[in-house]
Amino acid sequence: MTITASPGFDQHESVAFHHDPASGLRAFVAVHRKRHGRGCGGIRYRVYANEQAAVDDVLRLSAAMTRKAVLAEVPAGGAKTCILADPSRGKTVELLEAMGRVVESYHGSYVCAPDVGITADDLTVIRGVTAHVVGVGTPSGPYTARGTFRGIETMAAWKLGRDSLDGVRVAVQGAGSVGAGLAHLLTSAGAVVTIADLDADRANAVAAEVGAEVVDAGAILELAADILAPCALGGILTRDTVERLKVQAVVGAANNQLADAAAGTALAVRGIAFAPDFVVSAGGLIAGEHELTGFDEAAVHGHIDRIGGTLRQILELSASAGISETAAAERIVSERLAAADGH
Ligand code: NAD
Repeated sequence: MTITASPGFDQHESVAFHHDPASGLRAFVAVHRKRHGRGCGGIRYRVYANEQAAVDDVLRLSAAMTRKAVLAEVPAGGAKTCILADPSRGKTVELLEAMGRVVESYHGSYVCAPDVGITADDLTVIRGVTAHVVGVGTPSGPYTARGTFRGIETMAAWKLGRDSLDGVRVAVQGAGSVGAGLAHLLTSAGAVVTIADLDADRANAVAAEVGAEVVDAGAILELAADILAPCALGGILTRDTVERLKVQAVVGAANNQLADAAAGTALAVRGIAFAPDFVVSAGGLIAGEHELTGFDEAAVHGHIDRIGGTLRQILELSASAGISETAAAERIVSERLAAADGH
């Protein structure tokens, strides 16, 4: 394995491997960029096929956090931890405390948060060792749902010419923390929601609560609707799945929805508008930022609601420059970073 040859390595300020033999902790921490002295990003805990897969994941995710923070007007850069889980050891208090010591060793230049495989309880253990943690007391899902909802409002106006969501048909994939919150906001705004989850009981419970329809998980991507809101796993948009979509736009919180460049091209060819997930899924990051500066619910909501305007700016640039929405978002990120650097 050659870490220095991994894609994106050169764009990072630091990439480190941390090993605590006593607890079994093995983790890569990548700081893509510090802004205002810190990089923010979650701790992911999962089994990787090999070390290279973990390096690739941590580099990709920390770079994405910088884009997300810049577009969300959060004064931080991006960072990430990927813990290589050892199933035979399990996730012990000792391992989490060792992770806390790693975070502490960055003296605040890395602020961590939860991600896949790390629960609020795990974070509480880490918080016992270091103060540089957000997301302990505030579940991020509802805030992420709010930002995604604002994105859907903007997209409905832009693509469908609708000034309200009344009667707009939205297919929500995933009835977890984000999907459930989003479904609630959508039906409250008069949208017609259909929801699906691999866990049918979860989908049924959410649907009953908010007044939505349910379809099988295998059917949601092919449902005839106005907007698809992916709120399950990443990588769901491939050239094949895009060919089968029956919507005019995709706006969801799931990270890295486009499996590859071919999926983005297929969306453009079919005229399906796409809201980059790193734009509309920033609500949780924004809420975490406010934890550091004094949490005020109204201020958090006001900040999250600006996601709608940012998406509008991206859609307008995409149309005027003839580039994809993702390229437009990345151009705005580059311009803001260059302006901040005084270039
Ligand atoms: P979650 O684990 O609470 O819910 C995900 C749900 O998706 C689960 O109920 C799961 O059963 C379901 N699911 C998985 N595969 C599916 C499939 N193929 N079809 C239908 N349902 C499927 O996760 P969450 O916190 O709601 O996050 C949802 C997505 O949003 C994830 O991709 C996450 O990375 C992303 N995201 C979440 C946040 C946050 O604040 N929670 C922030 C940014 C991005």
